Amino acid sequence: MMDAHIETLQADLTAVVGANYVSDRAALDGLDPGFHPDNLAAGLAVHPATTDEVARVVGICARHRAAIVPQGGRTGLSGGAASGPANVILDLRRMNAIERLDPLAGTVVVQAGATLQAVEEAANAHGLSVGIDLGARGTATIGGMISTNAGGMEAFRNGSMRNRVLGLEAVLASGAVLGDMTEVPKCNEGYDLKQLFCGAEGTLGIVTRAVLRLTPAVESAITLLIGCANAADALRIVGACKGARALDLLHSEIMWRNYATKVADEIGLSGALGFCDAPAYLLLELGARDDAPDEAVHALFNDPVIAGVVIDAVVAKNERERRDIWRIREESFIVDNVVPHCSWFDISVPLGRIDEVIQGVEARMTALDAEIGIWVMGHLGDGNLHYTIGSGQPVCGVRKGEIADAVYSGLKEMGGSFSAEHGIGTEKRASLAKHSNPEKLRLMREIKRIFDPQGIMNPGKVL
Ligand SMILES: Cc1cc2nc3c(=O)[nH]c(=O)nc-3n(C[C@H](O)[C@H](O)[C@H](O)COP(=O)(O)OP(=O)(O)OC[C@H]3O[C@@H](n4cnc5c(N)ncnc54)[C@H](O)[C@@H]3O)c2cc1C
Repeated sequence: MMDAHIETLQADLTAVVGANYVSDRAALDGLDPGFHPDNLAAGLAVHPATTDEVARVVGICARHRAAIVPQGGRTGLSGGAASGPANVILDLRRMNAIERLDPLAGTVVVQAGATLQAVEEAANAHGLSVGIDLGARGTATIGGMISTNAGGMEAFRNGSMRNRVLGLEAVLASGAVLGDMTEVPKCNEGYDLKQLFCGAEGTLGIVTRAVLRLTPAVESAITLLIGCANAADALRIVGACKGARALDLLHSEIMWRNYATKVADEIGLSGALGFCDAPAYLLLELGARDDAPDEAVHALFNDPVIAGVVIDAVVAKNERERRDIWRIREESFIVDNVVPHCSWFDISVPLGRIDEVIQGVEARMTALDAEIGIWVMGHLGDGNLHYTIGSGQPVCGVRKGEIADAVYSGLKEMGGSFSAEHGIGTEKRASLAKHSNPEKLRLMREIKRIFDPQGIMNPGKVL
């Protein structure tokens, strides 16, 4: 620890939360670190149960000048929760209460360590939904999702996490509590400081509680897998769904052939793609507004625009078929198991430029290394593409940079982003420095200094 002896710090933390809720190095060994190998590399972890305990823990760490790494479900994909031996992990998962749900207002007050799935189930009991969904739903926490400004599969219609947050409570680096638990959508009271915590990845303070807005839940959906030639055609289908009077567009995910066939083969579901061989697959989920969903889907496919671009399509006939289709989309980490040492990219592309980006990245990557494999899928509705790229061989830092340049080339100029929804963490700090406006970076550093003058809040992340 910076200036402090670890035993004194451990004793001070134990006095706040009790011995059972401070983990030393030995206790952290052998636990599952989650999605970054260094998540549990810290010297100590503390597991508080209340905002007051978090505030006292932060105050103690500030006195000891010990850097704090907040953690929720450890499902983050950019290294934001990675820690080092001199760090204290502040684990929020004991703070998992769903304090109050107001069905009339469509709001829920939750503690930061509640998982998305737990909050979703509580909302579903009232015919409501959090309005945001992602594959790590059972483990990812609301605090982690706010801190990464998570997006996921419903962001194209409900916005990212920052659009779900009405109110927020955070413990600042001084140990003071910033309480802004507003429950109303309209609240113009000067600078909206709570929004700074959305996407801050723990670098400005610890999110302890939040008020989320809920949306009506959809009770049943029609799931379709459609083969098509490219993203432009997939977007034509999506456009027709949006315009269909009797249907609601719930999900629009896209997978390119390489990705879909690789995952399907590995999980034994190649049969699910057997209905057609296509350059791209569009996974659609539609809600029917009246009692005749089959007629509504038939009418959609009789639309000449759709008929002209659909190579072939299947409709899931039962829950098992629906789940199989979703497994191909969601079990993306299978690619990493089969092809080690891959690099991941999470980019945002203006909808009309997706095919151009797909072709450009492929051409640049082939020029770099003909052996390299590219697997792409994403959230089509908002142009968020997830790339897995690699040849199975370890890559050195220089080659990693060349691969990143090949993926990011031209993105900024066309109005896209090198970082869509997973955050910056440790993995994309160099890219942030390279691709961000210098004035924006200067202001971000100033803000960081105001909130965290000692630099104890998740140092080495984002900036
Ligand atoms: C299978 C899978 C699918 C995924 N799909 C998506 C997807 O579709 N969309 C998407 O956006 N992401 C996705 N992710 C990434 C991940 O689930 C999200 O980034 C999620 O928001 C992380 O939540 P967490 O609780 O696991 O946070 P952690 O991984 O524990 O932490 C993430 C960051 O937030 C900080 N943090 C955590 N809790 C707090 C807190 N209370 N206060 C302050 N800082 C905090 C950490 O320090 C770290 O910087 C996926 C991950 C997996 C494994």
